[in-house]
Amino acid sequence: MTADFGKFFVPGPTDVRPEVLAAMSQPMIAHRGPEFEAMFGRIQAGLRAVFRTERPVYVSSSSATGLMEAGIRCAPAGRMLALVNGGFSERFAKIADMCGRECDRYEVPAGSAHDPGELRKRLVGKKYVVITVVHSETSTGVLNDVRAINEIAHEQGVLCLIDSVSGLGGAPLEFDEWRCDYVLTGSQKALALPPGLAFAAASADFVEGAKQSHGRGVYFDIAEFDEFALKNQTPNTPAVSLLYAADAQLKSIVAEGMEARWARHAAMRDVVIAWTERTRDTVVSIVARPGERSPTVSAIRLPPPLKPQGFATEVRRLGYTLGAGYGALRDTTFRIGHMGDHTIESVRECLDACDSVLRGGTA
Ligand SMILES: *Cc1c(COP(=O)(O)O)cnc(C)c1O
Repeated sequence: MTADFGKFFVPGPTDVRPEVLAAMSQPMIAHRGPEFEAMFGRIQAGLRAVFRTERPVYVSSSSATGLMEAGIRCAPAGRMLALVNGGFSERFAKIADMCGRECDRYEVPAGSAHDPGELRKRLVGKKYVVITVVHSETSTGVLNDVRAINEIAHEQGVLCLIDSVSGLGGAPLEFDEWRCDYVLTGSQKALALPPGLAFAAASADFVEGAKQSHGRGVYFDIAEFDEFALKNQTPNTPAVSLLYAADAQLKSIVAEGMEARWARHAAMRDVVIAWTERTRDTVVSIVARPGERSPTVSAIRLPPPLKPQGFATEVRRLGYTLGAGYGALRDTTFRIGHMGDHTIESVRECLDACDSVLRGGTA
C-alpha cells in the first residue's frame, strides 16, 4: 500500500486500495464472450459470499440509487410504507413517490432507529404490500434492526426492500437465512470499490413478481437482470473496468471472511465511540444512541461555536479527509466513514488528527 491509502474517511466513496485501482487499467474485453463470463462467474461467487446467498447477485452499472429505483419499480402493485429516519431512507420514499407509487412514511427523527414493535402496529390491517428500509442510515450513523423489521413485515404478509448500501460488507446481513426479498448495495461504501457499480439480490418470488409489474422500465428491470445473471452476463454493456476492480477486491473480501470483516468494522466503530466518550465533556458527541450505532459510519456533533466545515478543513490540512454532515444534520455534524479497507490503526490516526485540531482550537 502506498502512503496515500488510509487517510480518506468520507462515508462513500471510501478509500480504495492501490491494487484495486490498478486492476482497472486492464485492456477491454467483449462483454458477450468467455473471458467476461468467467470473470462474472468469479464476481458472482464473491458477491454470494458477501450477501450470504445462493441466489444470483445482480451487477448494475449505476450508482446504488439505480437499484433502489429497481426495487421500487419491480415491486408488486399496492401501497408502500417507507421507514424514514434520515436522508437516504427519505430518498427511498421519494423514489416511490416519483415512480407513481402510493407511499406513506413511517418517520422517526434523524438519529433514531425504527422500533420493530411500532412497525407491527402500522402493518396490522394489511393495508401495505411493501415496506422500504435503510439498514445503515449513512446520514446519521444509525443501524436499523433489519432482521427484526424484515421478519415483522413477513409476519404481516408484506415484502421488505432493504437498502444496505453502507451496511453490506461491514454489518451482518444474511440474505438467505433471513429470507430477504430484495437487498441492494453500492460499490463505494463498505466494499471499498470505486463508485459506479451497484449490486442486488432478490428472492425467486420477487423476480416472479417483477415479471408481472407494469411500468418497470428497461434499465432497472430485475427480471432481466436475473435472466442474464444466470448466463454470467449483464443485460447491457457493463462498466468493464469497474468489474475488474470488483473481481480483484472480492477476492480479498472472501479471503478475509465475512465474520472477520464484520468484527473489524465493529471494532473500528468502537474506537470512534471510545474517542467520543473520552472527549464528550469537552467537545464532541455521537448522534446515534448506544445499541443503534452503525459499524461503518459515525455522525459526530460539534457543539457551537465549532463549525464542522471549518473543522474538516483543519483536519484536511493534516492529510485526513472527513465527511461533511448530511441532510438535516449538515450544519451540526461531521461524519467518519470507518468502513471498507480501513483498519483500527488508520481510524486511530484519523482521530489523532481530529484531536490535535480540537486541542489547537482552530476550528
Ligand atoms: C450512498 C448511499 C445511497 C446512494 O448511493 P449512490 O451510489 O450515491 O446512488 C443510498 N443509500 C445509502 C444508505 C447510502 O449510504
